[in-house]
Amino acid sequence: MQCVKCPHLASTRQNVVFGVGSINADLMFVGEAPGADEDALGEPFVGAAGQTLTKMINAMGLFRDKVYIANILKCRPDMPAGSSGNRKPTPEEMQTCIPYLHAQIDLIKPKVLVALGGTAMEGLLGKSGITKLRGTWHTYRDTPLMPTYHPAYLLRNQSFSEKRKVWEDLLAVMEKLALPISDKQRGFFLKP
Ligand code: URA
Repeated sequence: MQCVKCPHLASTRQNVVFGVGSINADLMFVGEAPGADEDALGEPFVGAAGQTLTKMINAMGLFRDKVYIANILKCRPDMPAGSSGNRKPTPEEMQTCIPYLHAQIDLIKPKVLVALGGTAMEGLLGKSGITKLRGTWHTYRDTPLMPTYHPAYLLRNQSFSEKRKVWEDLLAVMEKLALPISDKQRGFFLKP
Protein backbone atom coordinates (compact mmCIF):
# COMPACT_ATOMS: atom_id res chain seq x y z
CA MET A 1 0.00 0.00 0.00
CA GLN A 2 3.06 2.28 0.29
CA CYS A 3 3.99 1.81 -3.36
CA VAL A 4 3.41 4.78 -5.67
CA LYS A 5 5.71 3.71 -8.50
CA CYS A 6 2.68 3.99 -10.81
CA PRO A 7 0.99 7.15 -9.47
CA HIS A 8 -2.01 6.73 -11.81
CA LEU A 9 -2.67 3.24 -10.37
CA ALA A 10 -1.93 4.12 -6.74
CA SER A 11 -4.49 6.94 -6.87
CA THR A 12 -7.27 4.80 -8.37
CA ARG A 13 -6.82 1.43 -6.60
CA GLN A 14 -9.00 0.20 -3.73
CA ASN A 15 -6.52 -2.48 -2.72
CA VAL A 16 -3.09 -3.77 -3.60
CA VAL A 17 -3.67 -7.33 -4.83
CA PHE A 18 -0.43 -8.90 -3.73
CA GLY A 19 -1.00 -12.65 -3.94
CA VAL A 20 -2.65 -15.55 -2.14
CA GLY A 21 -1.72 -19.08 -1.16
CA SER A 22 1.00 -21.04 0.57
CA ILE A 23 4.57 -19.88 1.11
CA ASN A 24 5.49 -23.56 0.68
CA ALA A 25 3.72 -23.92 -2.66
CA ASP A 26 5.35 -26.10 -5.32
CA LEU A 27 3.15 -24.51 -7.96
CA MET A 28 2.65 -20.81 -8.70
CA PHE A 29 0.12 -19.37 -11.15
CA VAL A 30 0.90 -15.97 -12.66
CA GLY A 31 -1.84 -13.85 -14.22
CA GLU A 32 -1.67 -10.38 -15.72
CA ALA A 33 -3.38 -7.90 -13.40
CA PRO A 34 -6.28 -7.55 -10.98
CA GLY A 35 -9.69 -6.69 -12.36
CA ALA A 36 -12.54 -4.86 -10.62
CA ASP A 37 -13.50 -7.84 -8.42
CA GLU A 38 -9.91 -8.43 -7.33
CA ASP A 39 -9.36 -4.72 -6.63
CA ALA A 40 -12.49 -4.66 -4.45
CA LEU A 41 -11.50 -7.75 -2.43
CA GLY A 42 -7.70 -7.50 -2.43
CA GLU A 43 -7.30 -11.09 -3.66
CA PRO A 44 -6.26 -12.32 -7.13
CA PHE A 45 -8.57 -14.38 -9.31
CA VAL A 46 -11.80 -14.05 -7.34
CA GLY A 47 -14.08 -12.97 -10.23
CA ALA A 48 -15.55 -15.13 -13.00
CA ALA A 49 -12.15 -16.08 -14.45
CA GLY A 50 -10.98 -16.80 -10.92
CA GLN A 51 -13.76 -19.31 -10.41
CA THR A 52 -12.59 -21.11 -13.54
CA LEU A 53 -9.00 -21.06 -12.24
CA THR A 54 -10.20 -22.54 -8.94
CA LYS A 55 -11.92 -25.37 -10.87
CA MET A 56 -8.68 -25.99 -12.81
CA ILE A 57 -6.72 -26.19 -9.54
CA ASN A 58 -9.29 -28.53 -7.99
CA ALA A 59 -9.29 -30.76 -11.11
CA MET A 60 -5.55 -31.23 -10.53
CA GLY A 61 -6.37 -32.56 -7.05
CA LEU A 62 -5.05 -29.35 -5.47
CA PHE A 63 -6.56 -26.47 -3.53
CA ARG A 64 -6.14 -22.71 -3.74
CA ASP A 65 -4.48 -22.57 -0.32
CA LYS A 66 -1.87 -25.18 -1.32
CA VAL A 67 -0.66 -23.33 -4.44
CA TYR A 68 0.28 -19.66 -4.86
CA ILE A 69 -1.59 -17.23 -7.12
CA ALA A 70 -0.21 -13.85 -8.14
CA ASN A 71 -0.31 -11.35 -10.97
CA ILE A 72 2.47 -9.43 -12.70
CA LEU A 73 0.70 -6.17 -11.80
CA LYS A 74 -0.40 -5.74 -8.19
CA CYS A 75 -2.77 -2.84 -8.90
CA ARG A 76 -5.82 -2.75 -11.14
CA PRO A 77 -5.13 -0.98 -14.45
CA ASP A 78 -7.08 2.27 -14.22
CA MET A 79 -10.03 2.92 -16.50
CA PRO A 80 -11.28 6.24 -17.90
CA ALA A 81 -13.72 7.88 -15.46
CA GLY A 82 -17.20 6.47 -15.81
CA SER A 83 -16.24 3.38 -17.80
CA SER A 84 -16.48 -0.12 -16.41
CA GLY A 85 -14.58 -3.24 -17.40
CA ASN A 86 -10.88 -3.96 -17.32
CA ARG A 87 -7.93 -3.14 -19.53
CA LYS A 88 -4.68 -4.95 -20.25
CA PRO A 89 -1.64 -3.74 -18.32
CA THR A 90 0.90 -1.89 -20.48
CA PRO A 91 4.43 -3.27 -20.93
CA GLU A 92 5.72 -0.28 -18.90
CA GLU A 93 3.36 -1.00 -16.00
CA MET A 94 4.41 -4.66 -15.99
CA GLN A 95 8.11 -3.77 -16.07
CA THR A 96 7.65 -1.37 -13.15
CA CYS A 97 5.82 -3.91 -10.99
CA ILE A 98 7.63 -7.14 -11.86
CA PRO A 99 10.29 -6.84 -9.09
CA TYR A 100 7.51 -7.70 -6.60
CA LEU A 101 6.74 -10.90 -8.50
CA HIS A 102 10.46 -11.72 -8.60
CA ALA A 103 10.59 -11.35 -4.81
CA GLN A 104 7.57 -13.65 -4.49
CA ILE A 105 9.18 -16.29 -6.74
CA ASP A 106 12.51 -16.03 -4.91
CA LEU A 107 10.85 -16.41 -1.48
CA ILE A 108 8.41 -19.18 -2.33
CA LYS A 109 10.75 -21.00 -4.74
CA PRO A 110 7.99 -22.91 -6.55
CA LYS A 111 9.03 -25.96 -8.56
CA VAL A 112 6.79 -24.96 -11.46
CA LEU A 113 5.32 -21.69 -12.74
CA VAL A 114 2.19 -21.49 -14.90
CA ALA A 115 1.73 -18.33 -16.96
CA LEU A 116 -1.94 -17.59 -17.56
CA GLY A 117 -2.44 -16.05 -20.99
CA GLY A 118 -0.58 -14.11 -23.62
CA THR A 119 -0.24 -10.87 -21.68
CA ALA A 120 1.44 -12.68 -18.78
CA MET A 121 3.88 -14.30 -21.24
CA GLU A 122 4.64 -10.90 -22.77
CA GLY A 123 5.32 -9.49 -19.31
CA LEU A 124 7.44 -12.43 -18.16
CA LEU A 125 9.46 -13.41 -21.22
CA GLY A 126 8.66 -10.71 -23.77
CA LYS A 127 7.24 -13.43 -26.02
CA SER A 128 3.98 -13.03 -27.91
CA GLY A 129 1.68 -15.58 -29.52
CA ILE A 130 0.17 -17.71 -26.75
CA THR A 131 -1.36 -20.13 -29.29
CA LYS A 132 2.16 -21.27 -30.27
CA LEU A 133 3.75 -20.82 -26.84
CA ARG A 134 1.27 -22.84 -24.77
CA GLY A 135 2.00 -26.46 -24.08
CA THR A 136 5.79 -26.11 -24.25
CA TRP A 137 8.18 -25.73 -21.35
CA HIS A 138 10.05 -22.46 -20.86
CA THR A 139 12.31 -21.31 -18.02
CA TYR A 140 11.85 -18.23 -15.85
CA ARG A 141 14.21 -17.35 -13.01
CA ASP A 142 15.63 -20.90 -13.21
CA THR A 143 12.14 -22.35 -12.77
CA PRO A 144 10.25 -24.44 -15.36
CA LEU A 145 7.39 -22.35 -16.76
CA MET A 146 4.34 -23.67 -18.60
CA PRO A 147 2.28 -21.12 -20.54
CA THR A 148 -1.40 -21.84 -21.04
CA TYR A 149 -4.52 -19.93 -22.02
CA HIS A 150 -6.03 -17.45 -19.57
CA PRO A 151 -9.10 -18.87 -17.79
CA ALA A 152 -11.12 -15.89 -19.12
CA TYR A 153 -10.50 -17.31 -22.61
CA LEU A 154 -12.15 -20.57 -21.55
CA LEU A 155 -15.16 -18.60 -20.35
CA ARG A 156 -15.50 -17.01 -23.79
CA ASN A 157 -14.79 -20.26 -25.65
CA GLN A 158 -16.52 -23.17 -23.96
CA SER A 159 -15.48 -25.79 -26.54
CA PHE A 160 -14.20 -29.15 -25.34
CA SER A 161 -11.13 -28.87 -27.58
CA GLU A 162 -9.89 -25.61 -26.00
CA LYS A 163 -10.54 -26.90 -22.47
CA ARG A 164 -8.62 -30.06 -23.38
CA LYS A 165 -5.60 -27.99 -24.52
CA VAL A 166 -5.45 -26.23 -21.16
CA TRP A 167 -5.99 -29.51 -19.37
CA GLU A 168 -3.08 -31.12 -21.29
CA ASP A 169 -0.87 -28.21 -20.19
CA LEU A 170 -1.92 -28.86 -16.59
CA LEU A 171 -1.34 -32.62 -16.97
CA ALA A 172 2.23 -31.80 -18.05
CA VAL A 173 2.56 -29.65 -14.92
CA MET A 174 1.24 -32.50 -12.76
CA GLU A 175 3.76 -34.88 -14.32
CA LYS A 176 6.60 -32.43 -13.70
CA LEU A 177 5.51 -32.16 -10.03
CA ALA A 178 5.12 -35.97 -9.77
CA LEU A 179 1.51 -35.53 -8.67
CA PRO A 180 -0.73 -38.61 -8.91
CA ILE A 181 -2.84 -38.70 -12.09
CA SER A 182 -5.86 -41.02 -12.28
CA ASP A 183 -7.22 -42.52 -15.51
CA LYS A 184 -10.29 -40.36 -14.98
CA GLN A 185 -8.13 -37.24 -14.83
CA ARG A 186 -6.23 -38.28 -17.95
CA GLY A 187 -9.53 -38.48 -19.82
CA PHE A 188 -10.97 -35.08 -18.83
CA PHE A 189 -12.33 -33.15 -21.86
CA LEU A 190 -11.62 -35.96 -24.31
CA LYS A 191 -14.50 -36.56 -26.67
CA PRO A 192 -16.48 -39.70 -25.70
N1 URA B 1 -7.25 -11.89 -14.53
C1 URA B 1 -5.95 -11.87 -14.14
O1 URA B 1 -5.05 -11.96 -14.96
N2 URA B 1 -5.71 -11.76 -12.83
C2 URA B 1 -6.66 -11.69 -11.89
O2 URA B 1 -6.34 -11.62 -10.71
C3 URA B 1 -8.00 -11.71 -12.33
C4 URA B 1 -8.27 -11.80 -13.65
